[in-house]
Amino acid sequence: MPDPVVVLVEDEPQIRRFLRATLIGQGYRLFEAGTGADGLVEISSRQPDVVIIDLGLPDIDGLEVIRRMREWSDVPIIVLSARGMERDKVAALDAGADDYVGKPFSAGELLARIRVALRHTARASHETDDATFKVGELQVDLLRRRVVLGAAEIRLTPIEYKLLTTLVRHAGKVVTHQQLLRDVWGPTHTEQAHYVRVYMAHLRHKLEGDPARPRYLLTEPGVGYRLAVE
Ligand code: CA
Repeated sequence: MPDPVVVLVEDEPQIRRFLRATLIGQGYRLFEAGTGADGLVEISSRQPDVVIIDLGLPDIDGLEVIRRMREWSDVPIIVLSARGMERDKVAALDAGADDYVGKPFSAGELLARIRVALRHTARASHETDDATFKVGELQVDLLRRRVVLGAAEIRLTPIEYKLLTTLVRHAGKVVTHQQLLRDVWGPTHTEQAHYVRVYMAHLRHKLEGDPARPRYLLTEPGVGYRLAVE
């Protein structure tokens, strides 16, 4: 397989230097742009496997770049966002981004997000849909609708199961409260954010050794949840 191609759209020289060293060191082919306009050119000409984009760009807003890209590209988009800017993260995800890392981030954190993005692309293109999801002690068999923790089969209610399998479909990626409400309860329930909280508490009670310090069902504060993949 050829080395995966990454386009980075970011105007801060230090972050670019850090990412250049990290990504090239890991065997990615990297193309960089310092503005949204140049970014769009790079993305359309390089056919990247992943796009990493900062929201605060000197010309066009990063959100606008994401919206324009989504008119013609399905490439996974990972956003670099300032920590604590939950509204920005949700807006980026709504505009079509797949995931984000909050600045300052570690190399390991970003590389893990890239691996998840590439894995989702590989799965979508091969249609080999692994019917069983595994992480740690947790196994979800989507064909037989079985959830196993260690050696024990876990009984879930239909809603709990749907909530879990929605996270499995997006394993490793953040899923927003809105997206969970829409996928699990339907488009008429997108205001009932407390449903997600209540049922996530049930799920954690059944699947986590210590529900207060989850190993699998991770909280992304102010944004949603993420199912751990490693
Ligand atoms: Ca910036």
